[in-house]
Amino acid sequence: MAHIIAVTNQKGGVGKTTTSINLSACLADCGKRTLLVDLDPQGNATSGLGIDKESLSGNLYDCLIDGVPMEQVLQKTAVKKLSVIPATMDVAGAAVELVNMDKREQVLKQALSDCLEAAKKPYDFVLIDCPPSLGLLTINALVASDQVLIPVQCEFYALEGLAQLMQTVEMVRDNMNSSLRLLGLLLTMFDGRTNLSLQVAEEVKKYFSGQVFRTIIPRNVRLGEAPSHGEPITVYDPHSRGAEVYRKLAREVIRRVG
Ligand code: ADP
Ligand code: MG
Repeated sequence: MAHIIAVTNQKGGVGKTTTSINLSACLADCGKRTLLVDLDPQGNATSGLGIDKESLSGNLYDCLIDGVPMEQVLQKTAVKKLSVIPATMDVAGAAVELVNMDKREQVLKQALSDCLEAAKKPYDFVLIDCPPSLGLLTINALVASDQVLIPVQCEFYALEGLAQLMQTVEMVRDNMNSSLRLLGLLLTMFDGRTNLSLQVAEEVKKYFSGQVFRTIIPRNVRLGEAPSHGEPITVYDPHSRGAEVYRKLAREVIRRVG
């Protein structure tokens, strides 16, 4: 059975997409068959993996709203064992149209389980790159997942919004998906030279003791550059610090789901 992980935080710019792309690529490099579902209308995970959004014949919108099987829109990537369900701006429309649909919180779960069932070879991991909101798309991700990974940027206001996010996770667990659990909080964009980063890391560890990944993602220029080349860090600069830490994170995730 595939481990399905929602990468989520309603704050923008905290490292959800960077983590989704690079953790997926590293899991695939570890030999795990991995599917990345791009649930953000911005489609940054899609373009960050080198997929040209203009040339797509279909995307996640078609799966959610018109019932097109995911395997029909699935794209292979340059990374062996890593595929992606692409998103375009159309997905913003899906967020609106879902509101009037039957079982509107379960549409992604259904589409995904059909896809996993139809797959010729089983997937080991599915990562869902969530949009920066707690709206219906994110609820769909939480309903479809069995684990939640929350990137937390080591910046001022890092803890702001986390309580609300935790409440949402609990609400989904209590009402729609009893198997949902927290995989961990991931400290991102850590800069060991600043007191602020150190303070935020301490504070997050204090509030969420035992639930914070040991791997901490540092601020790394190469991680910021890689998406504009359409490559995960492991391809763009395999020897960079960024590649090294995401490989370490993948090993930690494999152990945690273990
Ligand atoms: P989100 O998906 O949560 O909105 P992103 O992953 O897109 O966040 O990251 C926001 C911006 O920060 C992007 O430009 C990304 O390239 C950059 N970034 C993310 N993580 C790092 C990092 N560890 N070091 C340097 N830049 C980063
Ligand atoms: Mg993003």
